[in-house]
Amino acid sequence: MSTRELIYDGKEKKVYSTEDPDVVLIHYNDVTTAYGGIKRAVIKDKGICNNHISALAFQVLAKEGVENHFISLENDREQLCRKIEIIPLQVVARNRLAGSTARMLGVENGTVIPNTVFELRYNNDRLKDPMINDTHVLALGIVTEDELKRIYYLTARANEVLKEFFHKAGMELVDAKLECGRTSDGKIILSDEISPDNCRIWDEKTGEVLDKDRFRHDMSDVTVSYQQVMERLEKAFEK
Ligand code: 5GP
Repeated sequence: MSTRELIYDGKEKKVYSTEDPDVVLIHYNDVTTAYGGIKRAVIKDKGICNNHISALAFQVLAKEGVENHFISLENDREQLCRKIEIIPLQVVARNRLAGSTARMLGVENGTVIPNTVFELRYNNDRLKDPMINDTHVLALGIVTEDELKRIYYLTARANEVLKEFFHKAGMELVDAKLECGRTSDGKIILSDEISPDNCRIWDEKTGEVLDKDRFRHDMSDVTVSYQQVMERLEKAFEK
């Protein structure tokens, strides 16, 4: 990978070009941030766990027909992915009401709900990722109406497939922040990352929090939890 050039330097990931213009190398590091970057720490081996967890999740999704950017795992910290044009939109799929939505609606964290809630956020650090609706998306020209339909389809399917995958590993997917991108031939596919950094994951039996909320709320053993998620998903993947 001698020709690689840094094309995106995120807080927690770096993206490099490769010899193939349609392929990028994503490098996961151990930096962890929360509250829009206000809280920051290095959590040993977190990048290794997230690289492996994301790779497993994207492979399961591909098997179930959810088109996504993952190509192959290169090593403990790197994966090859299809190059996409970033769409500045986050879709948060919620299987329970937790975090910001529980606060917004004045309900208990983890409230059980009869349907999945889908929220759109405008991915914009300066504006702190505000919640927006479909008409804002079209008004801002972020995507077309057909593309938005496809984004809802992909993220809803992804949520269902991931819920089942985590369940097989004895864990509950409480919510997930998902993102899509546009390939060079104009196709919308699932992209970004699927890990305890952007999903709430609870142990099904004990309710133990196994995700980034441990870091947000100063709980101990963040690495141990991420490692546990990785190892349990590895076993479920082999079944
Ligand atoms: P909440 O809106 O409750 O804070 O977050 C909902 C879900 O989306 C959680 O799983 C959280 O980790 C994830 N999430 C929300 N905003 C971001 C963000 O800016 N970056 C990442 N990586 N995840 C986010």
